[in-house]
Amino acid sequence: MIIPNVSALSDGQLKEVTDILAPYGCTVTVIKGQERCIYAIVGDERNDDMVTKIEGLPYVDRVDRIQSPHKLMDIRSSLATHRVKMGGIELGTEPFYCAGPCTVDPKNPNLTIETAHAVKEAGAHALRGGVWKPRTNPYSYQGDTRALSVLMEASRQTGLPVDTEVMDEEQLRIALDAGVHCLQVGTRNALNYALLRQIGEAIAGRDTCVLLKRGMHMSSLQEFISAAEYIVHLGNPNVILCPRGTQPGLDGYRNHPDESIVPLLKERSWAPVVVDPSHSVGKAAYVPAAALAAIAYGADGLCIECNIQPGKGIGDDPKQAVTPESLKQIISETRALWRIRHAAKK
Ligand code: PEP
Ligand code: MN
Repeated sequence: MIIPNVSALSDGQLKEVTDILAPYGCTVTVIKGQERCIYAIVGDERNDDMVTKIEGLPYVDRVDRIQSPHKLMDIRSSLATHRVKMGGIELGTEPFYCAGPCTVDPKNPNLTIETAHAVKEAGAHALRGGVWKPRTNPYSYQGDTRALSVLMEASRQTGLPVDTEVMDEEQLRIALDAGVHCLQVGTRNALNYALLRQIGEAIAGRDTCVLLKRGMHMSSLQEFISAAEYIVHLGNPNVILCPRGTQPGLDGYRNHPDESIVPLLKERSWAPVVVDPSHSVGKAAYVPAAALAAIAYGADGLCIECNIQPGKGIGDDPKQAVTPESLKQIISETRALWRIRHAAKK
C-alpha cells in the first residue's frame, strides 16, 4: 500500500509509480478516500528494491506491506504445520526444557557429566553447554574444541541431545561431525548473515535443529524472524526462536528481560519459542520468576543454565547458573502454569 504525502498523485506521478512497479510484475490501483487517495500495489510486494524505489519518491510518505517479508517463517506459510522435535518432545505439545552449564570445562569433565545426569534427573529434555565461547574480553576463556568430546560423552551417558554454540564455519563442521543435535546461534551472531547462511547450507537435509538467540540489539520482530528465514530458506525448518534479553539492560539485571515478546512472535510466526531466562536476568536468584513469566507469556520451553556446583563452573555459571534442585522446582512450577494456560485455551 503506497501512502503518498499529497492528497492524490498527479497523472505524471502515477505513471512514474506504474513504471517502477512494472518490471517486478506489479500494478497499482487507486483507492479514493474522501480527503486523500492511497494506492494498492497489486502483485507480490515483497521485493525490497522495488519498495525502496517507491519510498525514495519525493511525493511518497511510506509503503505499508500487507504480505510478510519472511515467506517461510510466516504463520500463514505452508510450514506452519511443521513441528520441531528434540529430546523426544514435539515442541508446542508440552513444555520443553534444555539445561546445563554455560561452559564445558575440558579440564573438569566430571563437572559437566555429573551436571548432565542431574539436569536429566530434574526433568530436562536436552543438555546445553558451550564448547566455544563468545567472550566480550579477548583475554577471557575462549572455549576449547576438546570440550566437545566431554559434551558428547555426557550426551551418550544420559541420552540427552545437546545444544552448543558455533561461531564460524570450522566450529560448525566440527560440531556436525561430532553429532551435535542443536546448533546455537548466539546473541552476538544473530545478525551474522554469512554464518546463518553457512548453517542453513550445512544442515539442509539433516534433522539438526538451530536455537537462534535474539540479538541483544535487535529491535523489530521482523529482524528476528528474518534471521530465522535465512536458515530455513536453505531447506531445514528446525529453527527455534530464543529470546534472551536485550540491551540496554534493566538496571540490576544483565539485560532487559524480553519474554513479553513471545505472544508477538507467535502472532507472526509458527516457529517454537524457547526462552532463555538465565542470560536475560543474569542472576540465579531471578531466574525462577523469569522462567514463570516466559511460560505465562506462552513460551514453548526454557533454556536454563544449571550446574551442580555453580561456583566451580566457568563463564556465567558462578553468577547465573541455578542448582539442579532449583531447576527441578522451576520445571515443576512452569509445568503447572503450562497446564493452567493450556486448559484455559481449550
Ligand atoms: C550462552 O548461551 O552461554 C550465551 C553466550 O548466550 P548468548 O549468546 O545469549 O549471550
Ligand atoms: Mn552463558
